[in-house]
Amino acid sequence: MEQPSPTSRVSVLLPYKFDMAFTYEAQGPLAPGTLVRVPLGRRMVVGAVWDEPPDEAVKTRPVAEVLDFPKLPEDLRTFIDWVGGYTLAPRGDVLALTLKEKLLEAPPKRAKSFAFGGADAARPGPALSVIQEAAAVALRSTVAEAAFSVTLLDGVTGSGKTEVYLEAVAAALRLGKQVLVLLPEIALSVQMLARFEARFGARPAVWHSELTPAQRRETYRAVAQGRADVVVGARSALFLPFADLGLIVVDEEHETSFKQEDGVMYHARDMAVVRGKFCAAPVLLVSATPSLETAENAAQGRYRKLDLPARHGGATMPRMEALDMREAPPERGKFLSPLLVAAMRETLAREEQAMLFLNRRGYAPLTLCRTCGHRLSCPHCSAWLVEHKASPRLSCHHCGYSLQRPAKCPTCEAEHSFVPIGPGVERIAEEVAELFPDVAALTMASDVIAGPAQAAEAAEKISKREVGIIIGTQMVAKGWHFPHLTLVGVVDADLGLAGGDLRAGEHTVQMLHQVAGRAGRAEAPGRVLLQSYDPSHPVIEALLSGDLPAFLEQEAALRRPGHWPPFGRLAALIVSAEDERIADQAARALARVAPQGEGVQMLGPAPAPIALLRGRHRRRLLLRTRRDIAVQPLLRAWLAQVPLPRQVKLDVDVDPVSFM
Ligand code: ADP
Ligand code: ZN
Repeated sequence: MEQPSPTSRVSVLLPYKFDMAFTYEAQGPLAPGTLVRVPLGRRMVVGAVWDEPPDEAVKTRPVAEVLDFPKLPEDLRTFIDWVGGYTLAPRGDVLALTLKEKLLEAPPKRAKSFAFGGADAARPGPALSVIQEAAAVALRSTVAEAAFSVTLLDGVTGSGKTEVYLEAVAAALRLGKQVLVLLPEIALSVQMLARFEARFGARPAVWHSELTPAQRRETYRAVAQGRADVVVGARSALFLPFADLGLIVVDEEHETSFKQEDGVMYHARDMAVVRGKFCAAPVLLVSATPSLETAENAAQGRYRKLDLPARHGGATMPRMEALDMREAPPERGKFLSPLLVAAMRETLAREEQAMLFLNRRGYAPLTLCRTCGHRLSCPHCSAWLVEHKASPRLSCHHCGYSLQRPAKCPTCEAEHSFVPIGPGVERIAEEVAELFPDVAALTMASDVIAGPAQAAEAAEKISKREVGIIIGTQMVAKGWHFPHLTLVGVVDADLGLAGGDLRAGEHTVQMLHQVAGRAGRAEAPGRVLLQSYDPSHPVIEALLSGDLPAFLEQEAALRRPGHWPPFGRLAALIVSAEDERIADQAARALARVAPQGEGVQMLGPAPAPIALLRGRHRRRLLLRTRRDIAVQPLLRAWLAQVPLPRQVKLDVDVDPVSFM
């Protein structure tokens, strides 16, 4: 008689909203990390064999297929468990950041994969300056340790940080390891890819939302098989299944865009450090304006620190000046001070380029009725509608709702009475066109520059001096290297300070310092003019003095006594519901049983600054603890006590960055 083949049970984690792994029956043992297709209800889904013991008692169904794909490595599985535990997201949701069924399809046989790998680490880089070489030597030996460590590379804009970290990349490649470089903005990948190619003779793989499905599949496979040696990507690249990761670089580590604000709310910089730990790889954080978190870790000796205090090649740091808008105001209905306009004229006369920075998309942030004061706002969000010149509509930047500009005011019925209030970049572009009719200008904002290809085109126009004036949002602030750009005008230096969240000052300093860093990167010296109605504000003073460590000291002194991050821990709960009363009730129910005790404090509930978002009313609660008290066990115990009705959505945001 034939013996039935021996079966064994396995745990399988599925990339869906479950925290637990499910038990299935397999034909013989399957190693953890193996990708399998299994039944889930009436569907077939892909999952990964997980490390925990299967349930021997439950009724199970068989594994349908073992996929021909590299196993998810152990360090990645540990990482996924850890991220779930830290963010309180179901582990399945975290796995979904790594594993998507669509990515597993094999490329068609005849298709040549469009060449991964091939970086030549033996190619020499540029001759480094003495100080750059010292940093590079330290980084090469750090990488050669092939062990976990974190290093902060802190250097002023244009000091050669990128040049130096490419040396660390080369060192990892020489060990035969893979390298991940995280960038805050995919538009930046264009210049970065060109630099990598110039340095190593091959293009790195890229990973971001603009790839085609075929490119994604091929890249994913190449990363898993270890063929892709360098990956440059946005934060989601952190979850790729690298076969043998030997270095993680987080460029512009202070950038808030590393924080994922929905789904699994993780901070890619912090999680990069965790991933580095699990795969025993060094992590390199790079910035000209390190976050207080990272600066504090360096100060406490938890991170190593390397400094590049001067610009490369004798280029000087730009001269910063505040323009007091009360003393030199713009004309009525205009936004550029005559002093800034004069500086632009001088710059253009020298055949150099000028950049105007305003972190606001569209034409005007607010449109109101001149007769009765009625404001055009979104019916679904606590937000004003923003006018965009490209279309005759006003739109909500939160939910996309849009409205044809009304001929009559809906409140007072006055005709043609709507007026734009305040500037967005489009309105500044209009003012520039009136002032400089013969100068070509270019606007860079996410709604006009849709992806890396358009960003590359824009960058090329700027480099070739086809434009004299660049007007942009935060998109122009980061990383770009434009040698002929010598004047930067910040249209509204006070803008970021109004929000008043925990890091408003820090983020404003970082962003404006970055924008300023675009000026004077080559021989000609740069000049930066900050338009401000409050030039004695500590943030403006810090920018003028250029003493950023002193500013961080001040910030630390403000946050330390109250145990605000990084001197304490913070988690936010965002309770939302379509019915305002239900949102309130749920928030109060949570508040009633909030964790208490020495070193633990609950703040709220309070309406969120955006109290209505996409039709849902939002309430916020904040849990703050001393640094030595972990928030996750408190949160778990807390949330377990309050059964929330179905209509209520609860988002848990550990280490919140946005307080909106
Ligand atoms: P950062 O990343 O600090 O802003 P970069 O690495 O982009 O600085 O360097 C600024 C500019 O100076 C770049 O064009 C870079 O190629 C150039 N540069 C930096 N160091 C050197 C060097 N040692 N030799 C030649 N060019 C260099
Ligand atoms: Zn809206």
